[in-house]
Amino acid sequence: MMHKNKLKRRVVCIVICTLGLSRAAFADEPPAYLNSAQPIEKRVDDLLARLTLEEKVSLTHGNSIFNVAGVPRLGIPELTMDDGPMGVREDVGVGFRILNRTDDYATALPAMISLAATFDVDAARSYGGLIGEEARARGKNIMLGPSINIQRTPLCGRNFEYLGEDPYLTSRLAVNYILAEQAQGVASCVKHFAANNQETQRGSINVEMDERTLREIYLPAFRAAVVEGKSLAIMGAYNRFRGAYCCENEYLLDTVLRGEWQFKGLAISDWGGVHSTDAVALHGVDIEMGTRPPYERNFLGNDYLAGLKSGKYPMSTVDDRVRRFLTVMFKLNLIGATPSTQPAGSINTREHQLAARDLAEQSMVLLKNDPSILPLDLNQIKSIAVIGDNAVQKFAHGGAGATIKSFYEVSALEGIVNRVGSRANVTYASGYAPLTGTGRGRGAATQTTVSATDLADRAIAAAKQSDVVIYVGGLTHGANQDSEGTDRRDLSLPGGQAELISRIIQANPRTIVVLNTGAGVEMGGWLDQAPAVLEAWYGGMEAGNALARILFGDANPSGKLPCTFPKTIADSPAHAMNAFPGTGGTEKYEEGLLVGYRWFDEKKIAPLFPFGHGLSYTAFGYSDLKLVKNVEPAGPVVTAEFKLTNTGKRDGAEVVQLYVHDVKSSLPRPMKELKGFQKVTLKAGESKTVSIPLSADAFAFYDPQRKGFVAEAGAFTIQIGGSSASLPLQADFELEREINP
Ligand code: BGC
Repeated sequence: MMHKNKLKRRVVCIVICTLGLSRAAFADEPPAYLNSAQPIEKRVDDLLARLTLEEKVSLTHGNSIFNVAGVPRLGIPELTMDDGPMGVREDVGVGFRILNRTDDYATALPAMISLAATFDVDAARSYGGLIGEEARARGKNIMLGPSINIQRTPLCGRNFEYLGEDPYLTSRLAVNYILAEQAQGVASCVKHFAANNQETQRGSINVEMDERTLREIYLPAFRAAVVEGKSLAIMGAYNRFRGAYCCENEYLLDTVLRGEWQFKGLAISDWGGVHSTDAVALHGVDIEMGTRPPYERNFLGNDYLAGLKSGKYPMSTVDDRVRRFLTVMFKLNLIGATPSTQPAGSINTREHQLAARDLAEQSMVLLKNDPSILPLDLNQIKSIAVIGDNAVQKFAHGGAGATIKSFYEVSALEGIVNRVGSRANVTYASGYAPLTGTGRGRGAATQTTVSATDLADRAIAAAKQSDVVIYVGGLTHGANQDSEGTDRRDLSLPGGQAELISRIIQANPRTIVVLNTGAGVEMGGWLDQAPAVLEAWYGGMEAGNALARILFGDANPSGKLPCTFPKTIADSPAHAMNAFPGTGGTEKYEEGLLVGYRWFDEKKIAPLFPFGHGLSYTAFGYSDLKLVKNVEPAGPVVTAEFKLTNTGKRDGAEVVQLYVHDVKSSLPRPMKELKGFQKVTLKAGESKTVSIPLSADAFAFYDPQRKGFVAEAGAFTIQIGGSSASLPLQADFELEREINP
């Protein structure tokens, strides 16, 4: 039996200890916002209530070129961002000054236009996922991409950064890119919202277009990115839209994005894209990013704070901004997280290198191969002349914001030499001086010690002495070529390349022309004589290896054009309508809905190469189309089923495309619109049944009177094939009742 005093002591101790414990437990109890079992809204409310007004305002603008300050006393870390969209950009300081670090390399993926040319949602997943993994490894929370503005004119300097001319193709690829990137715990920031379709006067140009054009051409990909892709962030564009700057635009940001689309994430300004505190405070972006300190002097800095204090701007404006900021922070698991809850990421792995090569391979578009000179057979070739300055150029580290400091980059010449080895002799001649593009001269050639005539003559001599010529040219990321901040002046190949190519073909008809461009270029004067033309875009750090694999038949081309290549610029819609680059600071989109192939169809203008075009080393047969109507109320309205056969002698992949034509509608509609595509891989001789489901969206147009999309009852024609200009399968379909998707 326990002694009485001992028992007393023990009771006292238990009481004291329990009290002490509960006090300690109370003191250590984590605040509600750190309790990950709580719903995010509760955590946000709790944390918001703990912030001072000054702290809140500090979360509405950058504290450096790419970051937003955190609030360390509450465990809110700094938010880090980076470009985007083709890999993780190297670290830069004030005014985008390169910091020359040694730990900021990344995988350089092929350009976005290359991704578009794959017409493959799996490729978009691999692309977005890879960037997400590398962003994690580099410690970046928000990646500034994908860039999804529509290619309205082939001259736009940023076409290489975008996904082509079609809203449906752009939407599908953007959604898959974003889903895969965000699965890595990194936020996508889809850009540039909206109507940022040219670089000329991009900081001020006022874009005017009718509502239907906005809804059917320029907004669908943003809507899909936000609603389906659940992009956590979106970037406001530099330009104005219907008078107001996009970053301060009530209609775009409040009515459409936050209202109709119920966007709960962060709207971030383009860098320096905000112009007034009054305008941005009430209807603008949530975070203002600038390019130079002092960042507190941003429009959403001290002036905003003063206006909030004086009651000029309601407190709800800052609370809403910070609520969005915190929501994204919690979704990214950045507040109260332990390292083990965060994916570690990876960078420049062998898998990433192979993915970069695979994407580049899939993106190359065989425009012409007549008679089948490609693939090259090394048993038949003893000497190869590689001609053209682009063959030795490296492109990943150029083009402004979309630049990547890649660990390495395989040029076209290196890729060819690697592949050929000792099996044939490879010589190289540039043929023309390197293109710098000075911003004034159109793709002006740099001065070299060798005259232009001598450079060309040497190339001709090399061509004559070789069994085959591989010409690698096109554009570069110099000013007035494929580069942010400027547009091209015309469609011609700079540096006298057209004349040079003609001379080379004359000297050696076995000339393969490989082009690096972000959109169409003129090929008049030499296209008829060239046996083969390959559009290689900008293929990222494995570009040369991918090119060699295509040229020598290790891979079979399957890319398709995500944009129409016009014969001349005058054929292209915005130019034919004299509606580029605007007058008096305003750009009216006079061509309306008729962007890209929609225009060429309507006006019956033959393009140089149509949208969706791309050849293979094998051939495909289309047959047995049937339309299966869905009887269930949910799901697709109808599914197109057909047989695709690889009728050639090589394994290959075909991008099948489905276009919808509305036979009769209450408003005029484009002749046909892409509403489905799929990449199908088939062994030589193999057949597969392909199914493409179509939801009501596929039949709908925007009715400005009703302020919504409508799929009218009535007849539609469904057309299927391997290019917008070659649609061997057609069937009629009757939509029995009107649907408002
Ligand atoms: C570009 C954006 C880019 C930003 C930050 C801007 O000039 O328009 O696309 O994300 O700079 O580099």
